[in-house]
Amino acid sequence: MKKIGVLTSGGDSPGMNAAIRAVVRKAIFHDVEVYGIYQGYTGLMTGQIKKLELGSVGDIIHRGGTFLYSARSEEFKTLEGQKKGIEQLNKHGIEGLVVIGGDGSYRGAEKLTEHGFPCVGVPGTIDNDIPGTDFTIGFDTAINTVIDAIDKIRDTATSHERTYIIEVMGRHAGDIALWSGLAGGAETILIPEATVDMEDVIGRLKRGHDRGKRHSIIVVAEGVGSGVEIGKQIKEATNLETRVSVLGHIQRGGSPTVSDRVLASRLGAYSVELLLDGKKGRAVGIKENKLVDFSISEALSQRHTLDLSMYKLSEELSI
Ligand code: ADP
Repeated sequence: MKKIGVLTSGGDSPGMNAAIRAVVRKAIFHDVEVYGIYQGYTGLMTGQIKKLELGSVGDIIHRGGTFLYSARSEEFKTLEGQKKGIEQLNKHGIEGLVVIGGDGSYRGAEKLTEHGFPCVGVPGTIDNDIPGTDFTIGFDTAINTVIDAIDKIRDTATSHERTYIIEVMGRHAGDIALWSGLAGGAETILIPEATVDMEDVIGRLKRGHDRGKRHSIIVVAEGVGSGVEIGKQIKEATNLETRVSVLGHIQRGGSPTVSDRVLASRLGAYSVELLLDGKKGRAVGIKENKLVDFSISEALSQRHTLDLSMYKLSEELSI
């Protein structure tokens, strides 16, 4: 393999730039040319493809977002769209593709591989919801952004004796809520992986208030439902002063943490090794701090699981 391509797709995440940098530098280290495909699968179909040099990825390791930009494309879900993409890759003489993104992007990579074009997936999403890897690129930065917000909200919650409901991202996964809630000392964490018992939540709040607690923090994963609705229910049932904060897209941005930069560098470089070894349809990941790879189809057929012992611990520590 003498020419490979790299693209970022779907929801962006901090550390994607560090992953692109690793792909480019590792490939050039092995005398392989690298082409950047701009705007994900949209740019793949329309030929927004440029050769990247060592210097193209200078000064990006610390930047959030993705300098190749990202996109969502309905057209690429069709066979015609995928054929257009392969035509462009062939036109540029590209023989393998690294796709950095979430599970939707992996489905695109799976399709290209089925049509005979070798792809490798790199997990780039803040949600930590990709089966087969302990962590995804961007998750650590996102939970650090959330913890910064929780700490700040806690200051004002205490001053004003308020109950705060903080809604965080994660799509169908509760990882962001669980990790940031545990680290932020939340009284209650609501995640889609555990049954939500509002009577229990309200009982805890009332007991805490009766004991003289000046504030309560409840972290809600977006997969559970709307933080605003949960706030209304709590206000009605307790009459406590309640405020809701929906953190939103600040969780997607910012300079990646050390953990995310290191993870992105390791996974990006490993994806190139796999392509150069002639592997295809694989996704890279990290398990117990060791690099692993597995079939994209296998990963897509499994469900991401979350460590429920951490959830139990958070309940025990917030009695
Ligand atoms: P993420 O990769 O973050 O999960 P999306 O689910 O939006 O983000 O997927 C990103 C893109 O991947 C989609 O816009 C689409 O172009 C492509 N994609 C998703 N599902 C498929 C599919 N079944 N077949 C081909 N391409 C897909």
